[in-house]
Amino acid sequence: MDTEDVYAMAYDVPVPGYRNDTVNSLRLWSARSTREFDLATFNAGDYVHAVEDKTRSENISKVLYPPDDQLAGKELRLKQQYFFVSATLQDVLRRFKKKDNRLWEEFPDKVAIQLNDTHPAVAIPGLMRLLVDREKLDWERAWEITQAVFGFTNHTVLPEALETWPLATFGKLLPRHLQIIEEIDRRFRARVRSRFPGDEEKIERTAILGGENGGIVRMSHLAIVGSHAVNGVSKIHTEILKTDTFRDFHELFPGRFQNKTNGVTPRRWLLQCNPGLAALITEAIGEKWTTNLDELARLRTVLEDASFRERWTVVKRANKARLSDTCGRLHGFVFDPDAMLDVQVKRIHEYKRQVLNALHVLALRQRIRDGVDAGPPRTVLFGGKAAPGYAMAKLVIRFLNALAEAVNGDPAMAGKLSVFFFPNYGVSGAEKIFPAGDLSEQISTAGYEASGTGNMKAALNGGVTIGTLDGANIEILEAVGTENIFIFGKTVDEIAALRKAGDDPKRHVAASAELGRAIAEIPDLPGAEGGAFRPIVDELLGRDRFFHCADFASFVAAQESAAKFFGTDLWTRMSILNVAAMGPFSSDRAVREYAEQIWRVAPVPVRFEG
Ligand SMILES: *Cc1c(COP(=O)(O)O)cnc(C)c1O
Repeated sequence: MDTEDVYAMAYDVPVPGYRNDTVNSLRLWSARSTREFDLATFNAGDYVHAVEDKTRSENISKVLYPPDDQLAGKELRLKQQYFFVSATLQDVLRRFKKKDNRLWEEFPDKVAIQLNDTHPAVAIPGLMRLLVDREKLDWERAWEITQAVFGFTNHTVLPEALETWPLATFGKLLPRHLQIIEEIDRRFRARVRSRFPGDEEKIERTAILGGENGGIVRMSHLAIVGSHAVNGVSKIHTEILKTDTFRDFHELFPGRFQNKTNGVTPRRWLLQCNPGLAALITEAIGEKWTTNLDELARLRTVLEDASFRERWTVVKRANKARLSDTCGRLHGFVFDPDAMLDVQVKRIHEYKRQVLNALHVLALRQRIRDGVDAGPPRTVLFGGKAAPGYAMAKLVIRFLNALAEAVNGDPAMAGKLSVFFFPNYGVSGAEKIFPAGDLSEQISTAGYEASGTGNMKAALNGGVTIGTLDGANIEILEAVGTENIFIFGKTVDEIAALRKAGDDPKRHVAASAELGRAIAEIPDLPGAEGGAFRPIVDELLGRDRFFHCADFASFVAAQESAAKFFGTDLWTRMSILNVAAMGPFSSDRAVREYAEQIWRVAPVPVRFEG
C-alpha cells in the first residue's frame, strides 16, 4: 500500500577472464523513474515540479549514501540498500524459476549470496518475504533455505561503523520487512533463552532488535543469524570477531565463524600496473606467476644474481622517475628518483594515523635543522579521500597540505626532505604510485584495520613495509620474515591494556622531547591562523583515541632502521624477498577459499588453446 515505484534498469558489465576464453558478467542496477514527467504539472507551467518525481527516483542510485565508514542513518541510504537488494533478489528468483517445477530445496545448491558487509543485509528479510508471502513456503522451510544461501563478510570493528537503523525509520519505509525481522528476532531470542536460561543480559546483548529509546535494528546481528557462514578478512580480525565483537554469537554458533584473508589481483596490481618489474620477474622465473602467484617464491633462486638485483633497482628507479614526471606535469611537484619514496595512500581516517606519519616528518625536519642525521633523502607521499561528513578527516587533508607547503618551501630541506599530497587518490593513482613506492606505511592502531589491501599491493611491487601488528600486516610479517619488514608499536592486547588504564598521552609527550616539539609546531604551519589545526593538537594531547603518542617513539625507531637499510644491497634483497613472499595474498587464493568453504561451488573447467 502507498508505494513509491521505481524501475531497476540492468547494466551488464563484462568481466573478461585472464587468458581463459571466458567472460562473466557483473549486473549493476540504475534507478529509473516509472514516470518521465508529470504532464499536467508541465502544462500548468511548473517545469521544475514536472520532473521532480524523475529526479527523486533516480537519486536512489546516483551516489553512495553516505560514502564510506561513517553512518548517517538517513532514509535515502536505506532506500538505496533496499533498491539494490530488491532488484537483485527478484532477478535471482526469476532465473531460478525459469526451469519449471523446481523444488525450493534446490535453491541453495544453485544460488549463493555473499553479504559484503551489512549494507545489503535487508536481503535476509527480503528473501524470507519472497519465499513466505509470494511462494507460500512455511516459515521453517523458508528460513532453512535462507540461512543456507547467505554468507556474511564483516569488514570493520569500528563501533561508529557498525550499522543500526532506528525502528521508526525502518518500519516507515519497509513495514513488512520489519514484521519479518520481528519474527526472526522473537525466534532467535527464544533460542538464546533455551540455551542460556535466565541470562536476560545475553539475550538483550545478542538480540536483533534492541537498544534504548524506541529501539534499533542491529544489521550485523541480523546478518550473523541469517547466514550459515560469517567471516573476517584477516586472521587477527577473525579472532577479534570471535573473542570480542561477536563473542556471544561465536559461543552460540561454534563453526559459523571462519577466516578469509583478503587478496589483491596480481594481473592489475603487478602485471598491468608495473610492466617493468613484471617483465623482469617473467624473464627470471617464467610467466606462470600471473595465474599462480605462489610461483613468485622462485625469485629466491635468483636472489644471489647481482645483475638481477641491479636490474631490479633500475626498474624501481625508473618507476619513481615516471611518477615524478606525472606529478610534475599534473601538479607541479617533482622529486628525486634516487630519494626514498615513503608512501601512505589510503582513505583518510584517524585509525589509519596519517597524523603519526606527519609527526615523523616534523621530527625529520627538526633533525635536518639541527644538523642531526636524518637518514637518506626522502620524499613522503600522502594520498587519500575523506568521507564528506568526517570533519576531522577533512582537516587532516588540510594539515598534510600545510605540512607539504612548509617543508617544500624551506630551503634547508632542499635535497633532503620533501612532502607531497597526491590529489584525488583513486585506483588510477594507485596504479602509478605502488610501482614507485620504496617504503609502505601501514601504521594503523593495532586492532582497527580489518585487513588492508594497500599493504599487499605495495609489497607485491617491491615496497618494504613499516607497519603495526594489525590486519594482514601480521600475515605479511609471517610470509616475509622479521628481517624483511619494519614492525613497531603496541599490540592489540597492549592497546587494550592502555585503554583500560586510561593512559594519558601527555605521559608519552613528557618522555619524548622530539614528540613534544613536533606537536608544538603544528600551530605554526601555513594556514594554521585562527587555530585551524587546534582540533588535531587537542585530540593528540587529550583523548588520543588512536594512540599516536603511545606509538611515536617506537615508530621513529623503526623509521631509523628503515633509513639505515635504504639504498644498500640489503634493501634490494628485502624488496625482492617481499615480492617472492606475496603468493598467499593473491585474490585467486581468496576467491578459491570462498568458493570451496562458503559457497560450495567447484570451478568450471575452461577450454583454451593459447
Ligand atoms: C587498495 C586501495 C585502497 C585500500 O587501501 P588500504 O591501505 O588497504 O586502506 C583504497 N583506495 C584505493 C584507491 C586502493 O587502490
